[in-house]
Amino acid sequence: MGVPFVDLKPDHREIENEIMEAVRKIILQTNFILGEDVKLFEADFAEFCGRKYAIGVDNGLAALKIALRAYDIGEGHEVIVPANTFVATAAAVTFAGARPVLVDIKPDTYNIDVDKIEAAITERTRAIMPVHLYGIPVDMDPLMEIASKHNLVVIEDTAQGHGAYYKGRRAGSFGHAAGFSFYPTKNLGAAGDAGAIVTDDEEIANRCRWLRNVGSKEKYLHDFEPYNHRLDTIQAAILKIKLPHLDQWSEQRRQAANLYDELLANSDVVTPIVPAETVPVWHLYVVRSRHRADLQKHLSERGIGTAIHYPIPIHLQPFYADLGYARGEFPVTEAYSEEILSLPMYPAISEAEIREVVDAIKSFVPNNAEVITA
Ligand SMILES: *Cc1c(COP(=O)(O)O)cnc(C)c1O
Repeated sequence: MGVPFVDLKPDHREIENEIMEAVRKIILQTNFILGEDVKLFEADFAEFCGRKYAIGVDNGLAALKIALRAYDIGEGHEVIVPANTFVATAAAVTFAGARPVLVDIKPDTYNIDVDKIEAAITERTRAIMPVHLYGIPVDMDPLMEIASKHNLVVIEDTAQGHGAYYKGRRAGSFGHAAGFSFYPTKNLGAAGDAGAIVTDDEEIANRCRWLRNVGSKEKYLHDFEPYNHRLDTIQAAILKIKLPHLDQWSEQRRQAANLYDELLANSDVVTPIVPAETVPVWHLYVVRSRHRADLQKHLSERGIGTAIHYPIPIHLQPFYADLGYARGEFPVTEAYSEEILSLPMYPAISEAEIREVVDAIKSFVPNNAEVITA
C-alpha cells in the first residue's frame, strides 16, 4: 500500500473552514503585511513558549540571523553550532557576518556534544546556537552554565523543537533568544514560509522588530540593517489557528515514536533514545543502519517514503570549504551521516502504517550479510 514520508492533509481537514474564513477576511481587508493577526499570533506563540515576546518573521533562517544581529553579533565574531544540523543554522551565522565554529554531536542524542563546547571557545566567540535536532531537546542546563561562565549569548535553533520539553520547560525558553521556523512541514507549519524569534528581553525584542522591517524604528529612518523579513498577515492568521492543536499533534507524534520504538526493538536498525527529563516532539524519527542505501531502496520499492537529515555535514559542504575543516574532524557526525534514515513521521500516521514500515524494515536482508541457515 505504501506510506508517505509526510502527510499533513489530515491535520488540515479539521481546521480547513476556519483557515479559509480567516484568509478570506484578510483578502477582503487587504491588510496583508504586519496586520492585526501578526500581533495576535505573536502573543499566543510567546505564551505557548513561556516567553515574554515573540516576533514573527518570514522564515526560520531569518529568525536566527535577526536574533544574532539583535545582539550585535557579526563581523569578527564566532558562533558555536553543531556539525550535524540543517545548513540554515550555520547560514544564519554567516549571513550575520560571523563565522560558524562547529562542534561534533553526542553519539546518543544526535545533538551538540556539550562536553566539547568549551574546547571550541576562543576570544572571538560570542554565542552558542544549540539545535534541538529532530525535536529532541539539547541538554540545556550544562550548556547554559558554560555560556554564563564565558559570558556568551545562547540562541536556540528551535526550528525542529516546537513545544518539546526539557525539565518541564519548553524548548526555546532557555537561551537569551530562540529562533523558530514555520516551514510547512515543521511541527507548526504555515501555508508557505514563516518563522519567529522569542525572547524575554524587551530591548532585544524591539531590535528584532526593527531588524525585520527595514531596520526602522520610525518610518523612513533606518538605524539598523534594512532587511525585509516581515511576516505575512495570512501566514500569522493560519499559524494562530493551528497553534492550539500543536500539543495534540505532538502527542500523536510521540505515540507514533513509541510504537516504532517497541516494534523496532529487535530489528537491525538503531532507534533514537529519549534523554532523561525531556519530552521530544519527533519532528523526525531517525534510525541508523549500516546498510542505509540498500535499506532505503528496499523501502522505496515498497512505497515507503524516507529521507536523510542530513546526508552531507556542514563542514563538507562546498559552500563551507573555506571554513578550513577537514574530513575526519567531526567523526560522530560524519559516521552518522552515512547511516541515518528518517522514517515516515507525522501526527496522522496510523498504527497500520507504522506496522507496514516496520514489517518492510524487518523484511530487509542486506546484500553482503551472512545468510544464517539453521
Ligand atoms: C528548517 C530549519 C531551519 C530554517 O528554517 P527555514 O524556515 O526553512 O528558513 C533552521 N534550522 C533548522 C534546524 C531547521 O530544521
